[in-house]
Amino acid sequence: MAQQSRVSRQAGLPVMREISARVVSRNVPLVGSRWRGGLVVEAEGRRVALLMPGSLARWFSPGERVLVRFLDEPEPVGGVYVAPRDSYELWRLWGGEGREERVKAWPPWRAETRLVKESIVGEEVYEYDVVAREAVTEQDYEEIVGLEQYHYASKEEIVAIWRCPVCGYYKEANVQPTCPRCGVPMKLQEIRGSLPSSRFLVLELKRREPYEPRIVAYVRVDTPIPLMHRRVPRPEGGFEIERMAREKICGRDWFHPTFWPLAYSRRRELLRKFRELLELYQSRRVARAALGDAIADEALRRANTAAARIARVVVHPDYRGDGLGVVAVRMALRWIEERRVPEMKRGKHIVETVAQMARYNPFFEKAGFVYMWDTASGRPVLMYPLSEEAKRCIERYLREDPVGRSHGGRLFRSRYGVVEKLASPLRISRLTKIYRSELDISRLPESLQEVLRAFGAERRIVERYVLRDVSLDIEPGEVVAVVGASGAGKTTLLRMIIGAAVPGLRENPETRESYTPNEGSVEAPPNTRIEYLLPGEHEPVFDAEETLLEHVYRRIGDPAAAVEVLNAVGLSDAIFYRARFNELSTGQKERAKLASMLASKPNLLIIDEFTAHLDRLTAQRVARKLSRIARSAGITLIASTNRPEVLKALAPDKIILVGYGTAYVERREGPGAGRAGGA
Ligand SMILES: [Zn+2]
Repeated sequence: MAQQSRVSRQAGLPVMREISARVVSRNVPLVGSRWRGGLVVEAEGRRVALLMPGSLARWFSPGERVLVRFLDEPEPVGGVYVAPRDSYELWRLWGGEGREERVKAWPPWRAETRLVKESIVGEEVYEYDVVAREAVTEQDYEEIVGLEQYHYASKEEIVAIWRCPVCGYYKEANVQPTCPRCGVPMKLQEIRGSLPSSRFLVLELKRREPYEPRIVAYVRVDTPIPLMHRRVPRPEGGFEIERMAREKICGRDWFHPTFWPLAYSRRRELLRKFRELLELYQSRRVARAALGDAIADEALRRANTAAARIARVVVHPDYRGDGLGVVAVRMALRWIEERRVPEMKRGKHIVETVAQMARYNPFFEKAGFVYMWDTASGRPVLMYPLSEEAKRCIERYLREDPVGRSHGGRLFRSRYGVVEKLASPLRISRLTKIYRSELDISRLPESLQEVLRAFGAERRIVERYVLRDVSLDIEPGEVVAVVGASGAGKTTLLRMIIGAAVPGLRENPETRESYTPNEGSVEAPPNTRIEYLLPGEHEPVFDAEETLLEHVYRRIGDPAAAVEVLNAVGLSDAIFYRARFNELSTGQKERAKLASMLASKPNLLIIDEFTAHLDRLTAQRVARKLSRIARSAGITLIASTNRPEVLKALAPDKIILVGYGTAYVERREGPGAGRAGGA
């Protein structure tokens, strides 16, 4: 690179070459510090302002040595030189003379990945092209606020603090408010619950439809929690608290010193400073805020751990249940390892997370996290080793510690389990169904009757074969698609099977005609437990006052299994758990119906016009998901559709083609492929 270096006419600084520099000061503004700010460095006798978000700049201290490489010449702006965000690279030099390590700080970390969703037979159904990168703009943080709302259990929870750019008035709100004093739109100040030490990673869709959100997930990475105690079960029941659990198992100093403003113990000094600030500002509130900033700065300067904590993973609700949570966690792990976030100091050995939700949703485990123990307050702790040393620590713990041995590092266990499969195949033999309609003009207006009489139609019975002499078997646990043009007889075939499985339908005079074949038979085994959906005719009934979670729990009888069922259909959020059916969108209602049917643990699930009201991508997601659940639980699934993309996502074992009065089976694979019955 040295050959390419040239000298800037403006600043006299070399470009395209790494040069040693020293931090002079940092700029972390009071307003918008997450995305605005910078560092002033001194390099080759010049002072240059490097523009970067305050969330990075605040981790540097005056006097610190860095390496900088200008891609463009810094520009003189009113007596100082300014390097815009896209014009330089920056490394922190960490570890002291002789054993210095370079930790890259700028440009912000970024990586691309592709998440391909495959059907059960390995066909690509759809994919996401995802860019993971650190949040650096105001818009990034506004979208994080939008996502954060979905994280909270209650709609009343306020997730962001906003500030008036004119008068400085603060207000808490979930969407951008207007200043009650000045009437101007307020600016985002901070995400509630985050710390000065927090860093944010966003997942952006590289290719997206106009109606899709830009950011579909975010991860908040922080320093480890200051103190962690764990529960150790007693043999006689109950548990005792073991203090400082991590330090006994992993490197003692990995988790310290962490960001912990409360540990600032120089009380006397604080009080003196507070009195000075009070004198200066004449306001206790302002003095307290200023002191808080000073304490936070000191805590940031001290923080230097070999660990990191994933404090939050939030996926947009429309994109749940598709593995984006796992992708988000994996990307965050790479970011932590490569950039040593959040502190950008020591190399990282281990990543921790403390998440009650990990009991119900295994995405941390899918990303490679290992369950360790429960904290003193009963929240599960999971860890991910980034180094060989950390891996050995965790393995030793799982081998030697009684708590570790008892669970083997696994937290999530499916509570849905399997159903009692159909005891024998559904056997359709020589089935014939005639559609019969009676033309009776006597109830029409007199003028129309006259016209019809002119055509010779007065009273006539119309009959046609919908299904004629159809024979086929559906094996226990099979996933079967029924395809054919509309009106071809798909629904009729499903009704014949439903009639055999639901007692009473063929005895009831009102339903007898629809559910009974004219000739032939359908046999269903005696242990059949059916759930079926005929849109507009037979659908799960939701109580207007009942939340989804209550509804599903009432049917399945186990809270953990209820959450699992909702997660499985992609309604994995506290907002959905607490929502009532009428509050959902069309696509969400479709998923809720599936959850309701799955919750009664049927061994036969029949769905007519499957996903007919859903957009292409949602239909594929739901089909793929349902096919997987049916297979893992042993449910016989029969779904009718005429959408090729849904068929692909279902990846059925058997396709029944219906049309022109016949129905026959087209096997997708195996020796039995081809015609297996029919007229
Ligand atoms: Zn104002």
